[in-house]
Amino acid sequence: MKYIFVTGGVVSSLGKGLAAASIGTLLEHRGLKTLMQKFDPYLNVDPGTMSPYQHGEVYVLDDGAETDLDLGHYERFTSGRLSRMNNLTSGQVFDSVIKKERRGEYLGKTVQFIPHVTDEIKERMHTVTRNNPDVDVLITEIGGTVGDMEGLLFIEALRQFALEVGKENVCFIHVTLLPFIKAAGEAKTKPTQQSAAKLRELGIQPDIIICRTETDLDEDNRRKIAMFCNVEKKNVVAFRDVAHTIYECPLDLRRDKIDRLVVDRIGLGHTPSPALEDYEKFVQRVIHPKHKVTIAVVGKYIELQDAYKSIYESLIHAGAYHDTKVNIVRVEAEAIETHGAKQVIGHVDGILVPGGFGDRGIEGKILAARYARENGIPYFGICLGMQIATIEFARNICGLEGADSTEFNKSTPHPVICLQEEQKGVTDMGATMRLGSCESILFAGTRSAEFYGDKDRIHERHRHRYEFNSDYQDTLQEAGLTIAAVSAKEGLVEIVEITEHPFYIGAQFHPEFLSKPNAPHPLFAGFVGAALRISESGNELI
Ligand code: GLN
Repeated sequence: MKYIFVTGGVVSSLGKGLAAASIGTLLEHRGLKTLMQKFDPYLNVDPGTMSPYQHGEVYVLDDGAETDLDLGHYERFTSGRLSRMNNLTSGQVFDSVIKKERRGEYLGKTVQFIPHVTDEIKERMHTVTRNNPDVDVLITEIGGTVGDMEGLLFIEALRQFALEVGKENVCFIHVTLLPFIKAAGEAKTKPTQQSAAKLRELGIQPDIIICRTETDLDEDNRRKIAMFCNVEKKNVVAFRDVAHTIYECPLDLRRDKIDRLVVDRIGLGHTPSPALEDYEKFVQRVIHPKHKVTIAVVGKYIELQDAYKSIYESLIHAGAYHDTKVNIVRVEAEAIETHGAKQVIGHVDGILVPGGFGDRGIEGKILAARYARENGIPYFGICLGMQIATIEFARNICGLEGADSTEFNKSTPHPVICLQEEQKGVTDMGATMRLGSCESILFAGTRSAEFYGDKDRIHERHRHRYEFNSDYQDTLQEAGLTIAAVSAKEGLVEIVEITEHPFYIGAQFHPEFLSKPNAPHPLFAGFVGAALRISESGNELI
């Protein structure tokens, strides 16, 4: 196996994850089998317990691992299916070392940061290598910024690992910022020089420097960076701000032939240049679509760019499929409570209520669902959004006054959404939800089955504690809420829909984790298609 390590310098939020994922895309298009992973130096065992304000979206894998949102980029940009082995945090490393110490596995030795902690990190690298014999290139992104104290052990582990597997099999890529100083009218290379020097101080000489830049990288700056970062000039690569979509990133990095530089470095220079025609077509459809729809995402962390990342990406994929620009209106649910649904979302062609926890904004989301149902506006409820649709239907169609989820109101007279049986008695918050991929049975004749191409079994990823209360199943069904899917194992309700509505679907799972650029998720594709029909009809239903 060959290894690429991607570190970051100068500042965070450089798009290091996107750079790593883009390299993955380019290598895959050269015919190489890639696998991507992330090392995060923070002490949380996983990001599952972190607030979206801290961390953005928690991305869930098939095996139920709650991971960094960069793993979402990896799965969207490459085809390698990831597992919990592909997101390592300091929390996991220390947890494992301390457990080993308690079990006496260190045989009386003093347990130390070096070698025991670094060995633990290297052991993970070796395990991933052993478990994936068919992979050509393993790309590992190191979270944080070089120079951070908490990242030092990871950097040291990589330095040692490169020696163990042979330096010729390893490519170190350092992503830095080239700030543009307006007053001076020029881009500055000094932070890049100092950050590369910091990496050398830690024993790692970067092979390639990627410079994030708002503008471009001129010859003079390339030469300076090459000279003072001790790399060849051709190995200084520009990573420019892209104009329209993150899916332009691989194409931008390709301008400086990053994939060629990488394969030459790790002895895979014989692979053909990347066949990017289909990918470029997808990007063109995102940039120059024929149609346009407006979709409201009604949530709670709306001001955060990253909180609903996979949902926004899935809408882009579905839009490209319909040759449609999806104009996303981010709506604070509480604004609907204050101003009413018609006022806030009266102009949109579709309404999406994403997942969430806690009771802030719940009534606003219920008003949004009601507005969609009563006015024939496509509604897509995801996880919490499905529970919202159920509560709204129970209250306003079945007349179950005060119907609610016990998450928000423990003493509701009609707990149409309630805690799953297995969740009762759970006290630990980390990794204890119903998590990961489960099989569901899809019922023929439903709209949902139609979108899935009449499949009868589906596999989707979950992350929730509460569920549709089966005691209310008959009442709701008789009133017109169709159960379109149930989980194969426990019979939990997985999809509810109103079959006659232009699109009214709530899914207990998270379809946004399975959507890809040229393979939109069927429910997202159905949703955007329905919104497009509303939009093209002049939104006359409103
Ligand atoms: N809070 C709800 C639950 O735990 C929904 C979770 C979600 O939307 N991911 O069931």
